[in-house]
Amino acid sequence: MTAPPPARELLAALRLRAGAWARAHRRAFVAVATVGLAGFGITALALAPLAAISSFAPDAAQLPRVTISEPLELPALAPQLRALAEQELELTRGTVSRSTDSLDALLARLGVHDVEAADFLRHDATVALALGGRAGRMLRARTDGTGRLVELSARYPVDAHARRGTHFNRLRVQRDESGHWRAELDEVAFGTQLRLAAGVVRTSLFAATDAADVPDAVAMQLAEIFAIDIDFHRELRRGDRFVIVYEVLSADGEVVAWNEGAGRVLAAEFMSGGRTHRALWFADPGGQARGSYYSPDGSSHRGAFLASPLELSRVTSGFAARRDPISQRWGAHLGVDYAAPTGTPVRAVGAGTVETAGWMRGYGLTVTVAHGNGRVTLYAHLSRIGVRRGERVAQGQPLGRVGATGWATGPHLHFEFRVQGVHRDPDAFARNGEARPLSPQALARFAMQRELALGQLEVAAALASAAQPGER
Ligand SMILES: [Zn+2]
Repeated sequence: MTAPPPARELLAALRLRAGAWARAHRRAFVAVATVGLAGFGITALALAPLAAISSFAPDAAQLPRVTISEPLELPALAPQLRALAEQELELTRGTVSRSTDSLDALLARLGVHDVEAADFLRHDATVALALGGRAGRMLRARTDGTGRLVELSARYPVDAHARRGTHFNRLRVQRDESGHWRAELDEVAFGTQLRLAAGVVRTSLFAATDAADVPDAVAMQLAEIFAIDIDFHRELRRGDRFVIVYEVLSADGEVVAWNEGAGRVLAAEFMSGGRTHRALWFADPGGQARGSYYSPDGSSHRGAFLASPLELSRVTSGFAARRDPISQRWGAHLGVDYAAPTGTPVRAVGAGTVETAGWMRGYGLTVTVAHGNGRVTLYAHLSRIGVRRGERVAQGQPLGRVGATGWATGPHLHFEFRVQGVHRDPDAFARNGEARPLSPQALARFAMQRELALGQLEVAAALASAAQPGER
């Protein structure tokens, strides 16, 4: 955010405006409004209040959703107007490439009819590299009134993993001073917009995030952020709520066409089973470490154990809903069963050493991991094992895949937790966070960001609840 107004005043104003806006549009099925506000604008989209549709069964498409974006830069209008006045008629067209596109097909969609330019594009190595038959590239062409090319640009992800979330590739094709076509390829930093979203779980987490127009990659981040707090396979309940503040990536001012534009989750809140969990992203500008998530009190949002040995995915989250899972609670047979399709990855809930990896009587293919202090986790009925005895594993590292080996009636993961050989309820140990506090200096910097982040969460939650007054 460039030169932000004082956060507190801004938020107070934002809250007022957001609440008033949501109340005013309570009856609207889908409303679009733009609210200008001291230096930055809010666009709120698509609020579908349940109150207005109470005679229908809840439908994913009608669940409340709130999308707010803050454009962070104002376009410089004067130069654009001047340029417009000086130009002959020019047309700009954009498209997104498909895997089956030929160069001719792309140029046709972009309204380019220019034999000379097409010839250059066909033979230039840089262009071939940038356009080589891949889907999801954002293309833009400027032409004159007859379709002669003035400038062509393409924007697409960088290959280097380290810069994937921060930079995009930009190809620019235009004539140089001597009139020859020239192609240039650069890596350019993404622009970011902030988006607020809130939702209520009715069937699955993904149904709820879909209804809130939250990209899958953001939903996955949400599940991972709260993986130490909530077992999304067993503990998610109808009525659980979430609020997310996340970044949407833009390339030259346009939301990127790949990955639904999903950037990083900056702040999130999850209300489940009467408890509210919050996590805020913080990259200490004065510190060496890359950023991570913290609880509002400044302790790291990490735990020794994940709440679930299965990563949340569309497949596993839908599986339990479609078919009644075997899901017995701990106590019935000293473990917890997760119904999941054969092949679903199974992960270590905590860092440790593989104690056994192989066949174990009725358990079938089984991995046990020792976590120190006599704490052991067990993963049974696997179809495949991907680790060896004695191997060190990190938290979340894949151990093998779900199967039905041993005494299993169908594909599922049988999971146990033991302390000094005694079985324990996994729910009881997973919640022991290993909070590492920030240094006093970092904490002071964190505190400033925290006010803004918590305020944003509040605004998103206020919008959601104002849109559905009967739902609290
Ligand atoms: Zn079992």
